This record gives sequence, structure tokens and C-alpha cells, in this order.
Amino acid sequence: MKKYKLPDLIYSYNSLEPVISEEIMQLHHRKHHAGYVKKANKALEVLDAGDYSNIKHVLRDLSFNLNGHKLHSVFWKSMRAPDESNSSSPKVKKKIEEKFKSFKRFKELFANTAKSVEGSGWAVLLGNERNDNFEIMQIENHNKLYLTNYKLLLALDVWEHAYYLDYKNDRNEYVDRWWNVVNWDEVEQKLI
Ligand code: MN
Repeated sequence: MKKYKLPDLIYSYNSLEPVISEEIMQLHHRKHHAGYVKKANKALEVLDAGDYSNIKHVLRDLSFNLNGHKLHSVFWKSMRAPDESNSSSPKVKKKIEEKFKSFKRFKELFANTAKSVEGSGWAVLLGNERNDNFEIMQIENHNKLYLTNYKLLLALDVWEHAYYLDYKNDRNEYVDRWWNVVNWDEVEQKLI
């Protein structure tokens, strides 16, 4: 049976410093994300074995952990070292300006979405396949408000485990500095 696997990062754990520390990246990837992968596989094993005795609980676990795995996989790729030069990503830029009027306004909207998550969750940029346009959305935990048929283009984890060791409870500072490590080339590639 096919199992989900923790993806390797395409950069080293200290690459995102000083925006995100090596310590956070190690814990976040090796403990948190690895835990979601493990629990998703465990839930699938129960389903594969045909054990429906606790189906509601198992599906809940699967939804939380599998979506956690998918979101984190996009999150790692949404970032790159802060000193790496980014290309102009012309398609993304054009689409963002069409949809949100200006890049500055988009960043404000996205950041406000991230900052206003109640408790644990995410801000994401999605590609709407219906009208080939962008949407900014908020996801609670890993799965509430999660929409299918939208392509995940960019994901920002605002769970406390993503920033607490570096920023304590100052999520706003984390979100504002996060722009320095966004990998726009990755978003651009997803559009092609
Ligand atoms: Mn996380």
C-alpha cells in the first residue's frame, strides 16, 4: 500500500534565517510535519484494514493530518533563502495586480488574513480553476474551510509552532517579515 512520505526540504534548515530560525525549521519539519504524515498513514491503515468501528474519529484524523501534510508541503516550497534574488515572476505579478489592484494591497490583504486567524491556522493564496483567478483564504487548523478544486499556490502557517520560538506571541511581526522569504518563482511555476 502506498504511504505518504515526509518530503525533503529543497534548502537547509538554516537557510531562512534570520526570518525563521534553524531550530524552528528542524522542529517544524522533523517533528510536526513528520507527525502529520505518520498519523495520516495510520488512519489510512485503519481504513485499508476495513475497520469501520470508529469511522468518524478515523476520518477526522485523516482530514486533519493529510491536509496538514499537504499544506506543509506547499509551505516549505513557498519559501526560499532571503538573500536569493527572486525573478520578477511576471505572470504572478500581472494576475495579482488584476485581481487586487496592486501588489501592495494584495500583501496587506494576505497579511491581514494571516494575522486574523483565530487560534491555529493558515493564510493561503489559491488559484480558482473556475475563473482562472486568485483568491485569498483562511484555513482553520488544517482543514476547516479547506476547499477542493482550488490550487494551493502559496501557504503561510500561522500556528504558534511556526513562529513562537523566534517571535513569542508576536504573530504580526512574523507575518510581516515572512515576505522576505517568499519564493515567487515557485508560485509562477505553478501557474504554467
Ligand atoms: Mn505547522
